[in-house]
Amino acid sequence: MKKTPPERLIDENGRRIDGRLPDEMRPLRIEAGVLKNADGSAYVELGNNKVIAAAYGPREVVPRHEALPDRAVFRCRYTMLPFSVDERKSPQPSRREVELSKVIREALAPAIFLQEYPRTAIEVYINIIQADGGTRTASIIAGAVALADAGISMRDLVAAIAVGKIGDILVLDINGIEDQFGDGDMPIAMMPSRGEITLLQADGVYTPQQIEEAIKLAQKAIQKIYAEQVRALKSKYEAIKESE
Ligand code: ADP
Repeated sequence: MKKTPPERLIDENGRRIDGRLPDEMRPLRIEAGVLKNADGSAYVELGNNKVIAAAYGPREVVPRHEALPDRAVFRCRYTMLPFSVDERKSPQPSRREVELSKVIREALAPAIFLQEYPRTAIEVYINIIQADGGTRTASIIAGAVALADAGISMRDLVAAIAVGKIGDILVLDINGIEDQFGDGDMPIAMMPSRGEITLLQADGVYTPQQIEEAIKLAQKAIQKIYAEQVRALKSKYEAIKESE
């Protein structure tokens, strides 16, 4: 449903509609190991986005003919729950969900040592409980933590954030309204400690300088997100240690 456009997305003091400055991210909360029945899991809140990810593997490939002799098959499924958006979304997988499943899989795959697990499957299921712009980046954050929590061998975690554009101003971590009425959306994912980009999409028009600036802005946020991912993973295992 189209919302009525706000009068302006940035006020005279440079504040956005939710009060943030252009380089401010929404509050982020990550919890690792939230599901008892998955091999690994994570819950992520990024502003009003609420995302849960479950990881499985390495396990048997079904159907078996899809198994690969030299590496694991890596699958991702992104699902938006019917109540995650303002107007009920059909539970039928949409084209957007199929596309985002692929985008998220391709953003996470470079971090996994798939060759260590030939003839097996590694799977990540992502459910969007509540959406407010940036669900693919929140899903990548959650998916990486769920994979690490499942004990899958990884080169690095993957963290992600979108940089948007309002007029000519670059803004970090756009929300739903900014996504709908702003002038650009550039989701970026990186392996934070390696500094390698695993996803870069762009909606809107950017100058080469703006692209460089957007990557720098994202990189700073990605380091913060990474620290929170590590904290979430550590705190789960510290809690287990203390209870032993
Ligand atoms: P992302 O969530 O990664 O930003 P999009 O740019 O495709 O991906 O979507 C932007 C936002 O639009 C979503 O986060 C969500 O808030 C909203 N949205 C997406 N699909 C629907 C839908 N079927 N109904 C209502 N809102 C939707």
